[in-house]
Amino acid sequence: MFQNLQDKLDKALHNISGRGKITEINIAETVKEIRRALVDADVSYKVAKDLTKRIQDKALGQNVLTSISPGQLMVKIVHDELAILMGGENVGINLSGNPTVILIAGLQGSGKTTFSGKLANYLKNKKQKKVLLVAGDVYRPAAINQLKVLGEQIGVEVYSELENKNPVEIAQHALDYAKQNKFTVVIIDTAGRLAIDQEMMNEIRNVHQAVTPQETLFVVDSMTGQDAVNTAKAFNDVLNYNGVVLTKLDGDTRGGAALTIRTVVEKPIKFISTGEKMEALDIFYPERMADRILG
Ligand code: GDP
Repeated sequence: MFQNLQDKLDKALHNISGRGKITEINIAETVKEIRRALVDADVSYKVAKDLTKRIQDKALGQNVLTSISPGQLMVKIVHDELAILMGGENVGINLSGNPTVILIAGLQGSGKTTFSGKLANYLKNKKQKKVLLVAGDVYRPAAINQLKVLGEQIGVEVYSELENKNPVEIAQHALDYAKQNKFTVVIIDTAGRLAIDQEMMNEIRNVHQAVTPQETLFVVDSMTGQDAVNTAKAFNDVLNYNGVVLTKLDGDTRGGAALTIRTVVEKPIKFISTGEKMEALDIFYPERMADRILG
């Protein structure tokens, strides 16, 4: 994960970490290298610039120059600023509804269906919830099948209406079914498109209004870099969602989305997905991610 960014940050910090004494110029050089590493990792220029400015101010303010181990202090400053950039504390999910309704949104191929299965599995096993998965992708019969296969694999019931092409109706019927059968969590997987289009946005907005979810989670493929951030913004404008799920962090992603999304849309990353298996789901902790990025 983020190997390239890790290597570059390591190199930037290594240059000063061994020194007993550093100068203002050393700090400026290091900060410049950090900024370059971030931009190379698909972090937007503005975010990288603001972040490195904070790092520089903090380094000078905290007397890194006169500290006995300036390099270590510098690493700590970078670590803390990265964690703050990604959100500081972990924000959990709101499970207060009866049943709790969780709406999953995102582009086609982002990993929505896979994540829906993983979340169902997590809530069933770790939170002892009775979970109903709802197949809301009315355009791709394969998506309904995919969810059914996952449901079977994890022992979670899947609600679907093969003949119905109205996602709002399906979601409402599913909710009635869940209430009648005492499900405590309903996860609604929705249809995505390959790119943002108005029809999709209207549809997801209608489903959102019809079921008033406690949690709306936006799923995005971290490999798509700056596009991930743009898509996150477009969906947030329509849904004002509660949190972000970053998928495919097991792949060769550069990390820009993980580092930028929080700042741009001001919504927390709640989960990260690191593989195709149902267990490959992690709760997102900004501190731990900063640890990983700094190796
Ligand atoms: P959807 O169209 O948004 O529902 O996306 P899918 O859940 O069908 O996922 C699209 C593809 O990405 C599938 O082949 C998944 O197996 C794969 N996928 C989903 N999440 C991950 C992940 O975290 N890591 C990897 N490597 N593959 C994933």
